[in-house]
Amino acid sequence: MATNKHYTELIKRIRAPHILGSVGGLLSWDQEVMMPAGGADHRAEQSSVVASLGHELFTSKRIGTLLKKLETAVLDEDQRAVVREVKRDYERAVKVPQSLVEELARVESKAQVVWIDAKAKSDFSLFAPYLERIVDLKRQYAKAIDPAADPYEVLFQDYEAHMPLAQASANLRDIRDALVPLIKRISMMPQPDTKVLRADIPDDVQLAFNKKVAGAIGYDFSKGRLDISAHPFTTDAGDVRITTRFTDGPVKSLLSTIHESGHAMYEQGLPEEHYGTPLCSAGSLSIHESQSRLWENHVGRARPFWKHFLPIMQKAYAPALAGLGLDTAVRAMNVVKPGLIRVNADEATYNLHIILRFELEKELIGGRLAVRDLPAAWNAKMQELLGITPADDAQGVLQDVHWSCGLFGYFPTYSMGSMIAAQLYAKAKKDMPDLESRFERGDFSSMLAWLRRNIHAHGRKYPTDELVRRATGSEPRSDEYIAYLTEKFSALYGF
Ligand code: ZN
Repeated sequence: MATNKHYTELIKRIRAPHILGSVGGLLSWDQEVMMPAGGADHRAEQSSVVASLGHELFTSKRIGTLLKKLETAVLDEDQRAVVREVKRDYERAVKVPQSLVEELARVESKAQVVWIDAKAKSDFSLFAPYLERIVDLKRQYAKAIDPAADPYEVLFQDYEAHMPLAQASANLRDIRDALVPLIKRISMMPQPDTKVLRADIPDDVQLAFNKKVAGAIGYDFSKGRLDISAHPFTTDAGDVRITTRFTDGPVKSLLSTIHESGHAMYEQGLPEEHYGTPLCSAGSLSIHESQSRLWENHVGRARPFWKHFLPIMQKAYAPALAGLGLDTAVRAMNVVKPGLIRVNADEATYNLHIILRFELEKELIGGRLAVRDLPAAWNAKMQELLGITPADDAQGVLQDVHWSCGLFGYFPTYSMGSMIAAQLYAKAKKDMPDLESRFERGDFSSMLAWLRRNIHAHGRKYPTDELVRRATGSEPRSDEYIAYLTEKFSALYGF
């Protein structure tokens, strides 16, 4: 079929704002990894020009005209998916008034600075007026996009485009109902020896070993690099860089590198020939997180992986881990213990941190919870879900950066990602019964090839539900994830 000329023009026009977005990503990478502190103001200007130029190009009238013309055009399946996704993004982008976009950017950038100070002083009252303003602006934003919809659902769909909120809510409720009693049960069992988690290894030694592992599981260093930053992250397709940190001990740091490698391998596996279009973009945040969690939890926290890598790690970190047994190491890195801080949480309690934020932000955006009542609501929910109460707001409601950046509706995608990871891994194991014995031999290529084929190759061609159904035979659902966690931890804790 001859390519429709309007389609060809559309692709050309959406490519430039996409590339500007990736330039913005590289500026952020530089800011976190390389930039001298004195460059901050200059960088803020660079980032803001790049972002507003991208927004201007993407919301041009011409793109609207082309989308209209393409409504009735004869297109193939890939092209129809591109038009569907561009149309969706375009319609959302043009509905939000420029003045609101600018006001949000201004308030959020100030709020992040205030948040750092409020957290350092553990004083929520400093941050509260900014959070009130952000909540108000985000409600206006949601209303501009769809005045009839639940505003929180509109925000959630910034990250999970085609999924009804009710579906995510039901899944998270199931996970909550299963995990609260499971974690209580675990807390009554004797805890493993976790000394190994605190071994002291020089950063450069860890960096070399982390690179080795990332390369071994399939991260392509010819189109990426691994550096150190305060908060680990990954940049997007084309030149996919990852960062890690070595402040959490050698095992947690390695798991963090594996997590980011999972994100990065997804970006590296998107079909390059479609760069700049939705076909070479990640499916959704939940799908992105399913890739990092699969590698981190199902591969990196499991026995087969460590059967291969423990002796290699012991050699690299000698003499620190001498005499450490495989069972002790695996039990230590899978310890389940309620704690106050989300980013330090284990695989099981992590979800309760997410559910807490999800339940609170839904109430905030819905106007049923006032910002001034948030710290008390946070502490009450912490007690209800995890049985502990923060001593101060720095360790409670002020711990995450997300709300100061206006990221409402983002948190649930972390747990949705873990849930989808369990489904994908179960299906991969079914398709390849010798998968884990390959891991024991240090061969991770069939796992990556399976993900390439079933997830990466499709980009945003299918909505999350359909992508997961095509890969596993069923839509995103909680039962396999709950079964996985229950079996894993009852075996590790012996009940
Ligand atoms: Zn992640």
